[in-house]
This record gives sequence, structure tokens and C-alpha cells, in this order.
Amino acid sequence: MEGGTRIVVIVVLVLLIIGGLVLVLNHLGVVSSGPTPPPHVLARIVRKIDKDTFEVMDLSLGQWRKLGYNKEGKYKNPKTGKYTMVPSMTCAHCGKDIPVPELPATGPEGGPEDPMVYEEMMRNYRCPLCGQLAMPSPDMGEMPMPPGGVAPRPVQPGGAPPRPAPPVRR
Ligand SMILES: [Zn+2]
Repeated sequence: MEGGTRIVVIVVLVLLIIGGLVLVLNHLGVVSSGPTPPPHVLARIVRKIDKDTFEVMDLSLGQWRKLGYNKEGKYKNPKTGKYTMVPSMTCAHCGKDIPVPELPATGPEGGPEDPMVYEEMMRNYRCPLCGQLAMPSPDMGEMPMPPGGVAPRPVQPGGAPPRPAPPVRR
């Protein structure tokens, strides 16, 4: 009977070790870049702009991911080696490519997650090139993605959130 007990103890120990490994791997997965997007997403051309020099670059998402990004979500500029590449947007006033504004660093992760904070900031964002409001009209469609964040919903004129689409009858 002693042999049976020993086997049970060994099995429990092995299960504990496997559980611990899974936890560690999960933790590493969260810290690193996360799941790899499918190939058609990686092939998509993404325009980014250097926040310091305003140089625009069009690379595929896969190429950007290979270059790497820092914890603030800024990608590496392949020419300077610095993490200064941020999502680009077009100024509604002068039509030039400008960097999207950076989120204020108030949260523990470097910026608030609240989309309302971002929307408010976008409405007041002035183009660094022409000094005019870069997004004067709230109904211009989708807002650009904040660095490393979730795109907020566009706000309808009057400030009311967009109405959900009516349910589709089957
Ligand atoms: Zn402008």
C-alpha cells in the first residue's frame, strides 16, 4: 500500500509543478507582446509618424512588430533606433500628417484607459504644425487609435453617444 501512496504524492507534485509553469507562462505572455495576429493582419500597412521629426513611414504591422515597441506603445524608428514612432492622423485644418496626442501619464500603465478622457483630449488637440484644432468636427468618423490603447467611439454632434444599430431580424 505504501507504493500506492508514493505514486499519489508524485502525481500531486507533478500537477503542482505543471500548474506553476502554466501560471508563469501566462504571466510572461501578458508582459510580452501577447498573441500574434493572423497573417492578413500582419500584412496590413500601418502609417506611423515620428513624434519628434514628423517623418511618416508606411510599414506592415508585421514589420512594426519586428522593430518592437516600448511599454508606452511607441514603436522603434528603424533610422534612429529610438522609440518615437506613434500613430499618425491627418490634421483637419492643414491636411498634413501629425502624431496623435499622447495620453497624460496619470495611470499606473502610463495613461488613463477611459475613452472619454481621450475623446476630450482629441477635441482640444491642436495641430503641432499649423496650431489649429486638428479635429474641429466631431462627426469626422473614427478617431485614430491612441498609442497602445483602444479606439474610442466617435461622438455625435451635441455630445450624445451614437445610437446602437437596430437589431437585425432573422
Ligand atoms: Zn494642421
